[in-house]
Amino acid sequence: MKLSIVVPCYNEEAVIGRFDEQLRTVLGDLAVDYELCYVDDGSFDGTLPRLRALAHQHRATTRYLSFSRNFGKEPAMLAGLKAATGDAVIIMDADLQHPPELIERMLDLYQLGHDQVIAKRSRDGDRRLRTALSRLYYRAVNTWVDVELVDGAGDFRLLSRKAVDALISLPEYNRFSKGLFSWIGFETVTFDYRNAARKAGETKWRFGSLINYGIDGMISFNCRPLRAAIYTGLSLASLATLYTFWVIGSAVAGGVTAPGYVTLVAIIVGLGGLQMVMLGLIGEYIGRIYYETKRRPHFLVKESDGALPTAAPAHA
Ligand code: UDP
Ligand code: MG
Repeated sequence: MKLSIVVPCYNEEAVIGRFDEQLRTVLGDLAVDYELCYVDDGSFDGTLPRLRALAHQHRATTRYLSFSRNFGKEPAMLAGLKAATGDAVIIMDADLQHPPELIERMLDLYQLGHDQVIAKRSRDGDRRLRTALSRLYYRAVNTWVDVELVDGAGDFRLLSRKAVDALISLPEYNRFSKGLFSWIGFETVTFDYRNAARKAGETKWRFGSLINYGIDGMISFNCRPLRAAIYTGLSLASLATLYTFWVIGSAVAGGVTAPGYVTLVAIIVGLGGLQMVMLGLIGEYIGRIYYETKRRPHFLVKESDGALPTAAPAHA
């Protein structure tokens, strides 16, 4: 069998050489037929020249491609999956947070017949706030969304050829791969490992991008938030009706009294805010339709060695 390793890299010059070395040592010991597919996601440091050099040095086992600009990790993973030719594919980060030593275990589990082998990380080394928010987020998301997302189960996983083909057949432009991995199903097995700190360079995540990622996850898979908006609207309308009856009733019984200014303002502002949120929610869905209908490719390749993966969405 042949194993492909897909590695998205964005400004990883500080660590890519070390990563490559460690990975090759591990793969060499395993005596498995392998290929490394590096995807340069529009880095502006020395990542690309390093990838060129690696591909030159290990011509038989290394391939790379480079995007015309930074498209994001999701498109980079997609490009790697499309380029990979192995019977099984492992997706790994370039920063050595995904220990290459775990590959052996993944392969063993693959050989037992699993199509997805997920290495689930602990959250050691994460900021405490990030950990707490993540916990909360996963709890919320799993009550909302149809697919199940597991905290800590990220992109470090092995996929069988069947699973890879299923993933690249999904044409959507907005790819929330945590959800897609779960959506495709197949025999899945998970094991835990201790998280390592990034070996060099720095994380590409900012707090804002994490929040955006969170919102993406919430609304990428169904229209349940819209349904919730309808229910909220209905309950508020019923409460308002009851309140109106009560006001009329008390006016009839006891005459009209003037106070209630603060209540009024609070209600107006509160409802105004709620309406904005729901409008925004509807807007998000429309925005997604807009992006999907453009049918733009997920990424553009500016350079690669030999076989280019097709960038066009599958339904174009
Ligand atoms: N990455 C990428 N494109 C991006 C951001 C990140 O290809 O726009 C790659 C990055 O080079 C690394 C992996 O995705 O190999 C994970 O990124 P990072 O370590 O910054 O994320 P974290 O581990 O902090 O979640
Ligand atoms: Mg990292």
